[in-house]
Amino acid sequence: MTNYESMRKALCLFVACWLCVPAIFSNACNVNECEVKKNVENNITSKTKPISVYLTFDDGPSKVTASVLDILKEQKIEATFFVNGRTDKFSLSMYKRIADEHHAIGNHSYTHDYKAIYKSVIAFEEDFNQLQQLLKETIGFEPKIMRFPGGSNNSIAKKQYGQQIMNEMIDHMTELGYHYFDWNVSAGNSQVGFVASDRLVKNATNLPLGLRTVILLIHDSKGKESVIDALPKIIAFYRGKQAIFKKLEENSPVVHYSNGTPKSIIPTIVFDVTPRPTAFPFYSKRIDPIKK
Ligand SMILES: [Zn+2]
Repeated sequence: MTNYESMRKALCLFVACWLCVPAIFSNACNVNECEVKKNVENNITSKTKPISVYLTFDDGPSKVTASVLDILKEQKIEATFFVNGRTDKFSLSMYKRIADEHHAIGNHSYTHDYKAIYKSVIAFEEDFNQLQQLLKETIGFEPKIMRFPGGSNNSIAKKQYGQQIMNEMIDHMTELGYHYFDWNVSAGNSQVGFVASDRLVKNATNLPLGLRTVILLIHDSKGKESVIDALPKIIAFYRGKQAIFKKLEENSPVVHYSNGTPKSIIPTIVFDVTPRPTAFPFYSKRIDPIKK
């Protein structure tokens, strides 16, 4: 290579670098470059974005609720309680404690009686309003968040009253301004009978790949005492993943099971088309009492 050629190449390199400097230090880029940059940023964001965990407790209050509240207090975590209607002194004190300790409270129907509440939209609304009234008298406000007993595509209602009944319920409650939440991870303690705490931990920490927003269903009703042992372990698992614990609010991301009428209602993340798993990995395994 001659001196002349070397100098020419060096000069070209200098000019090329000089031209690139403004582009490097400004954020200017053409459409394709921006697209690539955006994708890279999104990938980085999705990999580094912390997991958000919404602990949601259904079917309380019960004695278990008191222990759950103790654990949450100790762990400095806010959660969500989808409660049913109970008027005994202890239950009333639990509603108050949930609200006083800054957890979210949602309506999960007064009676949780599938046959009665899913009979018609009117029947559901009457039952729902009964709990709204009780909560208003007890904690001073009516929640705007709710969870349908059995979830928004529960098969019991459909079998009993037809495929359309849940769509009608959803449409009606949404029109009234309520925000309903299903779940995408379950501790698997909805069924009758004892479920060991290690099973609950396995279920509650068995995350679908890439899931960054976890709405975790746990039952804190009577007989669900194994939650008390499982909950600190579940929390420790998510803390190990640097997850952020949040409570549900009106504008929180939602999990909605596909129910024939996909909807998107303000949320930032919608899992509207996610079919509900027919069985959670450990969900269908009943722990039968030991035979003597
Ligand atoms: Zn329930």
